Amino acid sequence: MVGVADKACTTPPPQTARIGTMNLNEMPSKVRFAIDVAEQAGLLGQRIQKRLTEPALLKKDRSPVTVADFAIQGLVGWLLQQEQTGGDALVAEENSQLLQREGGATSLKLVTEFLSEAGLPADPKSVCQWIDQGSSTPAERYWTLDPVDGTKGFLRQEQYATALAHIEAGQVRIGVLACPNLPFPGNPSTRLGSLFVAVQGHGSWARSLQGSTGFQSLRVSALSDPAQARLVRSVEAGHTNTTLFEQVLHQLGSRVEPVLMDSQAKYGLLASGRGELMLRLISSERRNYKERIWDHAAGSLVVKEAGGKVTDLDGKDLDFSRGSTLARNRGVVASNGVLHEMALSVVRELGG
Ligand code: AMP
Ligand code: MG
Repeated sequence: MVGVADKACTTPPPQTARIGTMNLNEMPSKVRFAIDVAEQAGLLGQRIQKRLTEPALLKKDRSPVTVADFAIQGLVGWLLQQEQTGGDALVAEENSQLLQREGGATSLKLVTEFLSEAGLPADPKSVCQWIDQGSSTPAERYWTLDPVDGTKGFLRQEQYATALAHIEAGQVRIGVLACPNLPFPGNPSTRLGSLFVAVQGHGSWARSLQGSTGFQSLRVSALSDPAQARLVRSVEAGHTNTTLFEQVLHQLGSRVEPVLMDSQAKYGLLASGRGELMLRLISSERRNYKERIWDHAAGSLVVKEAGGKVTDLDGKDLDFSRGSTLARNRGVVASNGVLHEMALSVVRELGG
């Protein structure tokens, strides 16, 4: 383990780490588009979260889906239709079926109202069509979207994220996260919300969601003492193996309270040096669960480009070339890099 820590300390940081601010004008138009989408989606999510009283609908797998999930996916579908630069397909979590069934009418009306208010030429039919833009299958180049990642967190008025990534030849090239309830890294006492962006080979940055601060480059924490490491996991016990998580904490000799947080906001936390280790262990209730690409594409790039590491529980890279799931991977470990091998070996020893 010492070897790994030493290596991380002596390897010079990537060139991007020296760039204090990001010059948006130097970024490709796709990056600027992704940032614009994330900002609009995050602000729409904030407006809906403040006002929504309509209960969530339930999907086939019994997971909740809200007016915000549909409205944000509709917004992104519409923005992609307007985009002049690409025409790449959208692979997204939701579809409009529930809205078109009996019981979905009130939600559809609300989605239409929220999108009209946001300035879109919305009517129920076009709203469903914008949402269903997301039903494409992964191709050589495409966007993948989770409109509200952490819907359960959204319903608890806690953390959630809009996550959008551009994938090309199985590689995540661009990742953006809007985290409307996550304090901006440079200003932890306020609740401005955060917007993260990562560009493969160039770096990771964050700013406040509303754009009141400029982009600042991100760097993961350099902490190497496992006892001091801040471990991060999902709030939802059903999305991870909480017993194994506790055992890992014990094995690492942890003296720090773990952070429980919904959604890919966890990746944002790690990328900005506010946590060292995120474990997504396999829930004993759903051993065969395969992670969805939209739950990890954007977040994993944000951490990697901030100098961190992201693999599955076997130490393999996340494989985004297998359709809409990470079919070849088991669970996820994200870290500041320094603690990665140690975390993997502890999980392995404990049978995870
Ligand atoms: P989190 O807030 O980190 O738990 O992430 C929320 C995401 O977990 C949702 O978008 C779901 O797609 C995903 N999810 C649902 N069931 C499981 C499961 N059994 N194991 C891992 N992730 C899951
Ligand atoms: Mg999700």
